[in-house]
Amino acid sequence: MKVIKIDKNEWASGLEKLRSAYELIGPVKEKFYHAFQSLESGQQPDMDYINTRVSPKYVIYPQSELILECSLNENDEDYKIYKEPEKEYTPKAILGIRPCDADSFSLVRRNFDTEEYKDPYWLRAYASTTFVGLACDQPCPTCFCSSAGSGPYSDNNLDILLADNGDHYLARVLTEKGKKLASAAGWSQEAGDEADQQIEQKKQEAESAIQSSVKTDKLASQSLLDLYDATNAIWEKEAFSCINCGTCTFVCPTCWCFDVQDEVAGKKGYRIRNWDSCMYPLFTMHASGHNPRGTKVDRLRQRFMHKLKYYVDKYENGIQCTGCGRCVQLCPVNIDIRRICNMLNSYDPESCTCEVTAS
Ligand code: SF4
Ligand code: SF4
Repeated sequence: MKVIKIDKNEWASGLEKLRSAYELIGPVKEKFYHAFQSLESGQQPDMDYINTRVSPKYVIYPQSELILECSLNENDEDYKIYKEPEKEYTPKAILGIRPCDADSFSLVRRNFDTEEYKDPYWLRAYASTTFVGLACDQPCPTCFCSSAGSGPYSDNNLDILLADNGDHYLARVLTEKGKKLASAAGWSQEAGDEADQQIEQKKQEAESAIQSSVKTDKLASQSLLDLYDATNAIWEKEAFSCINCGTCTFVCPTCWCFDVQDEVAGKKGYRIRNWDSCMYPLFTMHASGHNPRGTKVDRLRQRFMHKLKYYVDKYENGIQCTGCGRCVQLCPVNIDIRRICNMLNSYDPESCTCEVTAS
């Protein structure tokens, strides 16, 4: 695999060359936190960051997205006939995305790209995006990517992986999309024979800096009903302090739930898809008034059973979490997916005990 060397001054000039062909999106320091934003002309991404507060999932799956529209003018032939709006899927490049966040798109794809249903909006946005990842040399204490199927130097779902090497990046160009972007930016300097070894050494250092992990080896063999029924041992205690704020779901790169709403403005009707949260009381409210997840125990159980058991059983491909640590950091009452994962993994229905650890 080709490794190229990109001096940091060439990085900046290369990004300017890319602007005519790509919308560039990268991490930018807001008041106290970094966020992914569209970069204006001359604006550089701030690559010296730990991770953003909210993941860049919105680039492919916007928080609020117009999916259909119709005329409400009775004189129009297509009166009240919903149609797809014309949308532009201009090529985008997400710069400096962390490996855990890049990996999340392959998990989410299992929901939006199936035999039975292919979500046209998600798939078009995904196809038009090039992912330029930045390997993670300083994992946070709450990161547990290595045990969640990803890793600080994972190249899964990336087109280019950058490793920061002082005054330059070592860049693994992984796909045709990555080659096209590197060529458009004018980055072509071969990195030399030692580059692979240097990246490997940095990878080992980064992996050994990860302080946190989860155990997932027994999740698949646990009985779904036993875990569901672990109300006294797990769910009531964990749900006690939950305030159903939805923060965990909104910051999560792998949460995909949405709600569809119809709006009217003048003589036009709009159908809009909005992120929603299984932690909200109205998420499952039926028109009859019945709510199958009417208590916070029900809702919290749903979030964690979905990520750590239903997903595991359905896809047989790990947990629905890349270990980015955002929900651990940002839950206002310290509900910790690492603790819950370890409890589910070790739960014994005979004794109603499990390991209560979050390390
Ligand atoms: S962030 Fe914490 S308190 Fe808020 S809904 Fe999620 S688990 Fe509950
Ligand atoms: S569940 Fe939490 S740690 Fe896992 S990907 Fe979502 S926000 Fe990150």
